[in-house]
Amino acid sequence: MWKVKSSKKSDSRPRIAVHKFSSCDGCQLAFLNAGEDLLTLSQLVQIVHFAEAGMVAPEVDVDIAFIEGSISTPDEAKRIRAIREKSKYLITIGACATAGGIQALRNGADSDAWRAAIYPSPQFIESLATSTAIAQHVRVDLELWGCPVNSLQVLSATRDLLSGVVPAPVRDSVCIECKRQGNVCVMVARQEPCLGPVTQTGCGALCPSHGRGCYACYGPSENPNTTALANQLRMIGLSDQEIARRFLFINNQAPVFAAAAEQALTPSLLQGEGV
Ligand code: SF4
Ligand code: SF4
Repeated sequence: MWKVKSSKKSDSRPRIAVHKFSSCDGCQLAFLNAGEDLLTLSQLVQIVHFAEAGMVAPEVDVDIAFIEGSISTPDEAKRIRAIREKSKYLITIGACATAGGIQALRNGADSDAWRAAIYPSPQFIESLATSTAIAQHVRVDLELWGCPVNSLQVLSATRDLLSGVVPAPVRDSVCIECKRQGNVCVMVARQEPCLGPVTQTGCGALCPSHGRGCYACYGPSENPNTTALANQLRMIGLSDQEIARRFLFINNQAPVFAAAAEQALTPSLLQGEGV
């Protein structure tokens, strides 16, 4: 591991950093998986902090900070504010950073009870009662969704910013991508539950291309009609609770998905049932 010196004034290349918060590291790996493109990028910018790649200098001011993971501990809440102050642009990468991720499922549960059930000495675990997206703590300039994020999206956003262009993420639905690829619809042809109609593309319709339903890891598409999709899911046999669980999965903190889950559950709630 080598340490970048912030006093290297002779190097005028823009500086970027990749910071990790509560996450599985999958989005950092997606960044690393860019392969030769990452080598090209590293000639255009200085990567000053990216612990998984071996560079450690979290205190250096940067032009672009990429953030993986959600805020789950008091230390993380403090650290993200310090990073925001040192970063010209702050971009979240992945479902954890943009909408809480899997760990935010605890927001609807008793986190103390979960901690006590998992750890023999829960008093030593310092965690917040909730796990929240980065935008709930600091201003975010751009959100890149996905679990994990697509390395091409990350590189494209970086190139845009380096060229002075505002990145414009594609918000088409996975359904549109399926049509482009000529996929047979898994929901129509095989009654497979699929959230593709309300999920933004970016993955190239990966799951339907392999005959599986989409579970919405790229977050909500533009103008998602969650009510129509919930009705369709009921028609193929899902209960209200099953529909709510599908909306409250990886991107459970995305407001439109949280609202869709609540709406799906409303008839059940009136009858005294929960998720
Ligand atoms: S978004 Fe998915 S791949 Fe990325 S860090 Fe979170 S859990 Fe891992
Ligand atoms: S099809 Fe859906 S679940 Fe699969 S990778 Fe794409 S967005 Fe994620």
